[in-house]
Amino acid sequence: MNITDKLGRPMRDLRISVTDRCNFRCRYCMPKEIFGKDYTFMPKDNMLQFDEIERLASIFVELGVKKLRITGGEPLLRRNLSKLIAHVSAIDGLEDIGLTTNGVLLEKLADQLVAAGLKRVNVSLDALNNDTFQAINDSGIATNQILKGIEKASLAGLLVKVNMVVKKGMNEQEILPMAAFFKEKGITLRFIEFMDVGTSNKWDLSKVVTKKEIIDTLSHSFSLEPIKSSYLGEVAQRYYYKGTNTEVGFITSVSESFCSTCTRARIAADGKLYTCLFASDGIDLKQMIRSGLSNKEIQIAIKEIWHNRQDRYSDERIGTSNLKKKRIEMSYIGG
Ligand code: SAM
Ligand code: SF4
Ligand code: SF4
Repeated sequence: MNITDKLGRPMRDLRISVTDRCNFRCRYCMPKEIFGKDYTFMPKDNMLQFDEIERLASIFVELGVKKLRITGGEPLLRRNLSKLIAHVSAIDGLEDIGLTTNGVLLEKLADQLVAAGLKRVNVSLDALNNDTFQAINDSGIATNQILKGIEKASLAGLLVKVNMVVKKGMNEQEILPMAAFFKEKGITLRFIEFMDVGTSNKWDLSKVVTKKEIIDTLSHSFSLEPIKSSYLGEVAQRYYYKGTNTEVGFITSVSESFCSTCTRARIAADGKLYTCLFASDGIDLKQMIRSGLSNKEIQIAIKEIWHNRQDRYSDERIGTSNLKKKRIEMSYIGG
C-alpha cells in the first residue's frame, strides 16, 4: 500500500527511538543545564516494549515504509537491542534497517548487531581533536573510543557513515581534519547543519555553519563532484572527492530545506507518532496498542494522520525569526 500526505509525499521511512536516555550529552542536543543529573527520563513502563515496536514496524511497512532507522537518545543503551533488530529484520517488505549511534558502545556491540542482521550504522562524531570533542560532550569519553567503535563496526561488516554536526564557535576548525581522515579511510562523512530541534539548545541562526561555508572550507584541500540524488526523500546532498569513490555529504536542513521530499515518520520511545522533526505534539500509538485496537484499526488511524499531514517547518523557517515556541527535543525524537 502507498499512502501520501496533503502535499503528495509518500511515507517511506520510519525512525523509531528506543530510549530517551543518553550516555553522552552533547551540548547542542542535551545541554547539561537542562539534562543534568536531576533530569527525569522516561519511566520504563512508558516506553514501547520490543513486541510493540515490532508490531508497529510491521503496520508501517504495510503502509509503504521501506526503510527503518533505530535511534534515540542513545539506542545502544537499550538492553538487548540486537533482539529487536533480529525481529524487525525479518519483517517482509522492509528493505533497509539502519542505526544511528554516538558510537560509545559500538566496539562492544558491533558483532552482535551484525549477527542480528544490521547492515548499516551512522556514527556521530563531531571532532577528531580530543579537547574539542570533550568540550562538546559531557561524558569525558575520548575520540579514540568512538574511532575504535567505527573500526570494529567496519571490520564486523557494517557499512559505516559518520555524521558531524557543525556549530559555529565549536568545531568548524575540525571540518578539514575530519574530511581528510575519513576520506583516507574511504568512509562517508556527512556534515549536518546545526538545527533548531527542541528549545533547550538555545539555537540561533548565527551558530549555523552552512553547506556553502563548509564547501568553501573543503575547497582549500579537496575538489568535489556532485552525485545525482538516487531516490525521492534522500536527505543528504552527496559528492565524491574527485578521482575517488569516497563520498562526502551535506544535510542542509537550515540553508536548503528539503520538506517537499520529506517521506519520514517518527515514533518516540513512548510510542508517540510525529510527522515532523519540529512538531509540538504527537499521536499516542502506544495507547492505541494497549487499549486493544487491532492492526487494521491502528492502520486506519495512521493513514488518516498521514493523509492530513502538511508539515514543512524548515521551508517555513527560512527568513523568519519567529520560531515555533514548543518543539520536541532531539534526544526524545532521535533526529
Ligand atoms: N545518540 C545517537 C547519536 O548521537 O547518533 C542518536 C540520536 S541523535 C539525536 C541523532 C543525530 O542527531 C546525531 O547525528 C546528532 O549529531 C544529531 N543532532 C543532535 N542535535 C542536533 C542539532 N541540534 N542539529 C543537528 N543535528 C543534531
Ligand atoms: Fe546523546 Fe546523540 Fe543527543 Fe549527543 S546527539 S546528546 S549522543 S542523543
Ligand atoms: Fe520533514 Fe519537518 Fe524536516 Fe520538513 S522540517 S524535512 S517536514 S521533518
